[in-house]
Amino acid sequence: MLRSHRCGDLRAEHIGSTVTLSGWVHTRRDHGGVIFIDLRDVAGLVQIVFNPELSRTSYETAESLRSEFCIQVTGEVRARPEGTINDKLSTGEIEVAAGGIEILSRSETPPFQIDEHSDVDEMLRLSYRYLDLRRERMQRNLQMRHRIVSAIRRFYDAEGFTEIETPMLTRATPEGARDYLVPARLHPGTFYALPQSPQLFKQLLMVAGLDRYYQIVRCFRDEDLRADRQPDFTQLDVEMSFVEIDDVLDSTERMLKSVWREVLDVELADFVRLPFEESMDRFGTDKPDLRYAMELVDLADVFASTEVKVLASVLGDGGLVKALVVEGQGGLARKELDALVDQAKSLGAGGLVWIGVAPEGFKSPLDKFFSDDERAGLLKVTGAREGDLVLIVADARHAVVHKVLGNLRVRLAERFGLVPEYNPGDPDYWQFAWVVDFPWFERNEEEDRWDPIHHPFTGVVEDTVEYLETDPSKVISKSYDITLNGWELASGSIRIHDATMQSRVFEALGIGGEEQREKFGFLLDAFKFGAPPHGGIAPGIDRIVALAAGESNIREVIAFPKTQTAFDPLTGAPAPVSEDQLEALYLRSVAPKDSERGSSRQTGSTAQRKA
Ligand code: ASP
Repeated sequence: MLRSHRCGDLRAEHIGSTVTLSGWVHTRRDHGGVIFIDLRDVAGLVQIVFNPELSRTSYETAESLRSEFCIQVTGEVRARPEGTINDKLSTGEIEVAAGGIEILSRSETPPFQIDEHSDVDEMLRLSYRYLDLRRERMQRNLQMRHRIVSAIRRFYDAEGFTEIETPMLTRATPEGARDYLVPARLHPGTFYALPQSPQLFKQLLMVAGLDRYYQIVRCFRDEDLRADRQPDFTQLDVEMSFVEIDDVLDSTERMLKSVWREVLDVELADFVRLPFEESMDRFGTDKPDLRYAMELVDLADVFASTEVKVLASVLGDGGLVKALVVEGQGGLARKELDALVDQAKSLGAGGLVWIGVAPEGFKSPLDKFFSDDERAGLLKVTGAREGDLVLIVADARHAVVHKVLGNLRVRLAERFGLVPEYNPGDPDYWQFAWVVDFPWFERNEEEDRWDPIHHPFTGVVEDTVEYLETDPSKVISKSYDITLNGWELASGSIRIHDATMQSRVFEALGIGGEEQREKFGFLLDAFKFGAPPHGGIAPGIDRIVALAAGESNIREVIAFPKTQTAFDPLTGAPAPVSEDQLEALYLRSVAPKDSERGSSRQTGSTAQRKA
């Protein structure tokens, strides 16, 4: 081996021993005749001292060292002189007096400094990801990812689950996104789809009698990216036979508790359970952040007989008038209030009513229209006090009111410091919740049809089955989500395991008999051979790790992620291919020429040039 110890592992107990270390030059300081190096490896930093009196040749070599040179050093571990002990470093009590050095490999000047404090453009970081990953924070994140995944495996192994791989080249599995397609050379004109999830295969494994399945698996969804999405991402995919909702909830909750215990050394409280309706009602979203209050309040009673026309007409149309209270922000400047109104409009609201609760009364453009009873009722129902700001959204469309207030709630909590700092050791920091009792369908007005909120294989709550054909809005699904601190962490459901029922649901989705046979015939056939009742869940590994590590973006916990435009600046993927390759696949491109292509590629090459 090219080392006897790892740099970051050396401690006072090693004083007096001769060690060989290999690593990267983190920093070099020349102190009048003595050179100090912080040598870095996966375990951390250690200080190396080159003194010409100890070894002139080593000292001279050390003079030529630059940041990120990869070197090997041999020397004696000694106590640091009085007054030079560094408490911030785990190796801070000692240093290594270099007797020999070998340069293993030189480095050009890196495009950015490898330290935690430099604020580097993300494009540049991703273009040189192998350097970016040398940073302590990134190494810590990837190590945490590994520990989380191995804790998950230990849990499921102990519970009698079998890890089984499912195909990557397969047929489309509808999870609501676009498919990534792979042309099939051996079957001209046809395509494999990369799995949006292993959904149908895991169900077939239950029909096959495997009973308890899990897989840490890559899935692919071609959709618009956000901070918590990547085109290829990792799921913990789980399926169980002979279970009901509570069984899946119980097993998944115990798994997450055991992961948090092992990795973060914290004992989680039992997860709250929120029916979907209640979650929308109180927080305007089905992934509520429960670390702060600022709940939505219904003002229908307060304004039941109002003279304020907009409010009266919304309520008359069966719409919603709801509010949230921002504590202590009643004095917000007009400009900031206007900005809030603009935000509300950009989220789809017709407008936003604001009320500053001041000692002399309400400060609000609508105040002159309110009656005394309404003013008193509003304070009573919202609990707003002097100095607070009340924001009201009214709309005939309930979903709009919830979306706008739900979003404002999150933005205002961030802005006014209601979101607690990352504090992994505090059980209260981790606000897990189960969201249950989802409607099965959601209306897609554009396409004039009903879409599944979960996926088409989700079970239907028995006493709502009758509405499948008559009023899909009343059908309740056997699905459940886990949310954590405002992120959706997992979705799952008890499945349909009966061919007739599955066909009925397809029909309700507008998928007729012929299309059912063509796309899902294999599943319907499998259900004819004694399919067991089954259900499962799929938590997102990238999201779990990001939250556990206190990162707000999943790219920080993925070794080689893509940008927001699904581009990889490191390898330049996706990239054009040769005419020959296309021809072999029976394909011809009708895409615009390189110069007309999307901006993502150009941004990538700009990053390369900048570097
Ligand atoms: N297949 C679902 C998904 O990927 C999860 C599940 O129902 O188990 O969202």
